[in-house]
Amino acid sequence: MRPSAKTEDKEYLNARLTFCGGVDSVTGANFLLEADGKKILVDCGLTQGTKLADDINWAPFQYDPKAIDILFVTHAHVDHLGRIPKLIAEGFRGQIFSTPPTRALASPMLEDTMNILVKNKGFRLDEIYTPENIKIAHGLWRGFDYHEKIQITDRLEASFKNAGHILGSAMVEFTVGPAASGGVNKKILFTGDLGNSPSPLLPDTEMVTDADYLIMESVYGDRNHESRNERRHYLEAVIEDNYKRKGALIIPTFSLERSQELLFEINNLVENNRIPVMPIFLDSPLAIRLTEIFKQYKEYFNQNAREVLSRDKYLFNFPGLHSTLHSEESRLINEVPNPKVVIAGSGMSSGGRIVHHERHYLPDPNNTLLLTGYQSVGTPGRLIAEGVKTVRILGEYVNVRAHVVKISGYSGHKDSDGLLDFVANMQDRVKKVFAVMGEPKSSMFLVQKIRDHLGIEAYAPEQGDAVILF
Ligand SMILES: [Zn+2]
Repeated sequence: MRPSAKTEDKEYLNARLTFCGGVDSVTGANFLLEADGKKILVDCGLTQGTKLADDINWAPFQYDPKAIDILFVTHAHVDHLGRIPKLIAEGFRGQIFSTPPTRALASPMLEDTMNILVKNKGFRLDEIYTPENIKIAHGLWRGFDYHEKIQITDRLEASFKNAGHILGSAMVEFTVGPAASGGVNKKILFTGDLGNSPSPLLPDTEMVTDADYLIMESVYGDRNHESRNERRHYLEAVIEDNYKRKGALIIPTFSLERSQELLFEINNLVENNRIPVMPIFLDSPLAIRLTEIFKQYKEYFNQNAREVLSRDKYLFNFPGLHSTLHSEESRLINEVPNPKVVIAGSGMSSGGRIVHHERHYLPDPNNTLLLTGYQSVGTPGRLIAEGVKTVRILGEYVNVRAHVVKISGYSGHKDSDGLLDFVANMQDRVKKVFAVMGEPKSSMFLVQKIRDHLGIEAYAPEQGDAVILF
């Protein structure tokens, strides 16, 4: 006798989801999925920006790291993988899965984070964040291409889909099979961060129509980006205005993706004679190192970028560009007469070489500070974006007299409408949506919008919440 649909339902494998991090905050992604006897983490990121971040980051995990079987890493941003050394230090020896570019980008990202964190003398970080632990992580790490099947158990498999956010960025889809034959699979999709497609470099975010449960980012859940179509035009105008004023244009930027995207855009502007040739400095050892990795993964670029770059003998290089690896070279940038452009990290002006340039150039009204990315609460970048007249940098109060310009079109994240469209594609199937990785008002706004516009159950979970999905 065929079991009734009801009996089949009962025979489904259970799946339990715990929100261990990345709720009420854009950063610190860390989710635990338990299904078919496996304990699986999706991301293990650092919380960044707030004063409480240290306590949050180095407090005990909500689970036993030794009991975790697999860690899936959606992409190589530190807020998605920065606590891997802590996981290793506490005994995790399972497997780590990501796409191959994420695996390649992870080591320089973790090493750079180590160099910043070990200056913090508390929390025994010099014992947790060690080169050995980063090496152990690398040894446990395996790359899978987009759509490659990852068989975890007979009834549980996973695969990566292109998120279009940064090089190698992926959504992770888990397919949980029915306990009895003849039943239907259930799909759980973790978005990681979703790209603001179309991106200059990457393919668009893949459309997904068949997820049953969706755990999605909500960084810009409550806002739309202006100017996406005009972003290159705005960038051109900012560079030209600065040139005419004979100023220094300072661009704090994330070393990963945004730097390469800007180089690609400026490369286009230079080669099409849209902007005058002037010294342009990529003043970030990490961005320089990551750009080398980008050159090895050209097949992950979108078609247009591949074509443009195939005509170009030197990838991410053009007349006027200087990559300043050493700090002596970085200091000499001050001596170079204006007009000039300086691209440096960190993206939220909370450290890195950009802070030296900001201290030097922000007080002069001929200069320009260009913000192109998300600025976390509590960071100097957020304060400058909000229009403060003085900002504390390197222990000094610095007057902000330079022009401050924001181009949101270069954001690496989907905006509110983009996120809603993403969910709308699976409207016929999805049962529950969990909005995570956003500030509370942003997540709540998106939740309300999903309920009102699409009539789908949506929630903004709280830290530590656990739910039985089925
Ligand atoms: Zn990201």
